[in-house]
Amino acid sequence: MRKEILILGGGYGGLLSALSARQHLTTEEAGITVVNRVGSHQIITELHRLAAGNVAEKAVALPLEKLLKGKSINVVVGEVQKIDVEGKQVALTNGSSYRYDNLVLALGSETNYFGIPGLQENSLTLKSVADANKVFAHVKDRIKAYAASKNKADATFVIGGGGLTGVELVGELADELPAICRQYGVDFADVSLSLVEAMPTILPIFSPDLIQRAVSSLEARGVEFLTGLAITEVNGNVVTLKDGRTIETNTLVWTGGVQGSALVGNCGIEVNRGRATVNEHLQSTSHPEVFLAGDCAVVFGPEGRPYPPTAQLAWQMGELAGANIAASIKNFKMDSFNPVFSGTLASLGRKDGIGAIGESGIELKGTPASLMKKASNARYLTHINGLFSLAY
Ligand code: NAD
Repeated sequence: MRKEILILGGGYGGLLSALSARQHLTTEEAGITVVNRVGSHQIITELHRLAAGNVAEKAVALPLEKLLKGKSINVVVGEVQKIDVEGKQVALTNGSSYRYDNLVLALGSETNYFGIPGLQENSLTLKSVADANKVFAHVKDRIKAYAASKNKADATFVIGGGGLTGVELVGELADELPAICRQYGVDFADVSLSLVEAMPTILPIFSPDLIQRAVSSLEARGVEFLTGLAITEVNGNVVTLKDGRTIETNTLVWTGGVQGSALVGNCGIEVNRGRATVNEHLQSTSHPEVFLAGDCAVVFGPEGRPYPPTAQLAWQMGELAGANIAASIKNFKMDSFNPVFSGTLASLGRKDGIGAIGESGIELKGTPASLMKKASNARYLTHINGLFSLAY
């Protein structure tokens, strides 16, 4: 009997699981439906560039309908309201509902505000194309406003959080702000661009040498680092730091952390700190007909530590989840998840970057890292295009 596969989320995990399932299953064997909040597959690893106006939206928002045209995969644009894992049904906010035999949960992560007073109400985020467009429009508006008002808060830009998202964003802004200032007749010397990080250093995943490289490259372009200083409160446009000092800013972008999707965390499947737990086949540990891909799940490495929620992990989980659903439908043996880590690359603006690549963590700085980051994006696009042509 034909099975119904429902995939929630059209990001890396969702798209790859849909394509992978379709590679292994004919339309007689299974219907596949992808539900996504927006009509595009978003290349979120490039959002920092969109947020600084350094890339066109069409390069980072690929229409799902177009991507999946002729692949016998239904696309539904809608917001998931409720996941009923006992009744095997999903309701959308528009009133429609979908039943499934197999479900893939690939709803990603959400911004974590850690309960910091005033933070959510008074900050921008960088989790989607819409967020990135908002940041860019806001930054331009503030510079334009500063040209007229000379209000220092309009020329003060604060990034909260020195993980990869915050650092990549600040690098892009450091490159693009001078041109935006010129456009509105503002002296870039009037602009304050700072990154606040609670830990003693930014990007602790890299070696001290690479961290120093990132700091000096960004400082040379005007970025001020306030490390070892958590943001403790935001009151209107006043940001308070752990040592009691305050910064008046009309632009705070919060990149201080992520947490698993609340819809997944609260749907009744087994979770660990809000993220779904999985077995080696990427099935929910409590509901085997449910498979997981990406940030809404937690995968533990051999040393018992959770892997960080990255695009490369989501992509690999999606591929295996799709293949394993097909295997379970056909009563074949499912494969185990053995992620391959190609390393971590951080862009530091248009022409600079750092990276630790491969199993041995070979270190890259400058143009090679920057080019490698571009190549890794191109590799992803080539990969999904390859899968499109392979799918039924
Ligand atoms: P993150 O959790 O990795 O970094 C958040 C940073 O904010 C941390 O350094 C934390 O100490 C800091 N922070 C937390 N509370 C704070 C406070 N109150 N005040 C100041 N600083 C505070 O988040 P992220 O950078 O969004 O990354 C999320 C995931 O996505 C990670 O797994 C990351 O590896 C991945 N990612 C990867 C890339 C890439 O590969 N280039 C790019 C972006 C994100």
